[in-house]
Amino acid sequence: MKAKFNLETPLGDRLDTIARFSGWYIPDHGRRPELYVACNGKREALLEWGSIRPDVSSVYPSQSQSMISGFQGDVLVGEYEQRPELDVAVCDAAEQDRELFRRRFAVGPYRRPALRDRSFALFDLLVCPECRSSLAKHETDWGCPRCGMSIPLRGGVPHFLQAEGTPCLHLSEQTNTHPYSSEVLDILGRHRAGLVLDFGAGHTPKDLLRPHVVYLDAVQYQWTDLVCTRGRLPFRDQTFDAVVSQAVFEHLQDPHFTARELCRILRPGGLIHLDTAFMQPLHGDPWHFFNMTQHGLRRVMAPFEEIRCGIKTYQQPSASLLMQFDAIAPFLTSRTWRNTIAKWRKQLAAGAGEFDECLGEVGRTTLAAGFYFEGRRPQ
Ligand SMILES: [Zn+2]
Repeated sequence: MKAKFNLETPLGDRLDTIARFSGWYIPDHGRRPELYVACNGKREALLEWGSIRPDVSSVYPSQSQSMISGFQGDVLVGEYEQRPELDVAVCDAAEQDRELFRRRFAVGPYRRPALRDRSFALFDLLVCPECRSSLAKHETDWGCPRCGMSIPLRGGVPHFLQAEGTPCLHLSEQTNTHPYSSEVLDILGRHRAGLVLDFGAGHTPKDLLRPHVVYLDAVQYQWTDLVCTRGRLPFRDQTFDAVVSQAVFEHLQDPHFTARELCRILRPGGLIHLDTAFMQPLHGDPWHFFNMTQHGLRRVMAPFEEIRCGIKTYQQPSASLLMQFDAIAPFLTSRTWRNTIAKWRKQLAAGAGEFDECLGEVGRTTLAAGFYFEGRRPQ
C-alpha cells in the first residue's frame, strides 16, 4: 500500500497568525510517524499524530494504523519573518523527512498574542537547565552565554526542548484540558501572596488564570508561560512556594529525577500536590511511560515529607473502568462486543458511586484510576 495523506486544515491559500494543520495520515512504513511543518525549509512546529479517526478506519479497515491516523498542531506564522508568502511543507521525520505536502501560502499580518496579568518576571526565575547560568535575551531566541544552549521563542514563550527539538503548539485548543480539583483550587487560593508552579498545566481557560501561577507544559497552549520537555528544569533553586501537577507524572521519562528537581525549586517547607495514573489505558501516545501503584508513587515522592496520599473522587475504580471502556470501543471490530461494552458502560455510569463504595478500601486501592500525593519539602 502507498502512504495516504489528507490535509483538512488550513483551508484556502492564506495563513492567519495561528494556523492549524490537521488531517489524517496512514504511513506505508508501519512505524509511528513524526510529522512536522516546515516553513521556508525550516522546521517550525511538530504535529501530534495518533488521534482516533473512525471515519478513516471505515474507509481503510485493513490498515491497522487507520484508526489512529488523525494529526493536528498549530504553527505561529509571520512572527520574525514578514514575508507576503510562505513555502510550507508537511514532512515525516520517521521516513527520511519525506515530503507529504507542499504549497505556497499568502501570509496575513502578524497579530501579537494576548497578554495576561503576571505577578512575576518570568525571565528572572530562569537559568540554563544544563549549567545553571543566567540566560541572555536575543531577538529571536534566548541563550546560555556559558554552554551555548539556544532556547527558541514562539510568541515570546521560551521552549526548553530536548536536543534538536522542534516546538509543539496547540494554541487553538479551547477545552480545559486539566480541570482543577478542589484541593488544587484551595492550594492556589492559599498561596496568592507567593508563587506557584503548575507543572504540566495544559490549556487553562482565561477566567481561571491566576497572576501568581507559572504555567509550564510540554506543549504551548494559549496561556503557557514556558514549554519544557527536558528532565532538568530551567528554574533557580527555591523559586516556588507550591507546586501542583495533575495527570502529568505518567508522562515523564524519569519521574524520580523530576521529583528531585521539583524539590530543588521549592523553598524549604514548600507544598507539593500531584496526582498521576494507575489503572489507565495508554494516552498521549507515545509520551506515556509509567503508571504507578500507590507504593510506587510514594517511592517517587520520597524527597518530600508526606502529608497525605490516596484516591480522589475522579480516580475511583469506576472512573478507571469507564476510561477503559471508552478506549476499547473504537478498536472493537465486533458489533456484538461493541454493544456489550456500551451496555456495561451505561450500567456502570448510572451506579458508579455505589460500585466504588461496595468495593471496599482494599478493592479501591487495587483498582484505582490513579493516586494523589501531597507533601512538603523538608525544612
Ligand atoms: Zn548553560
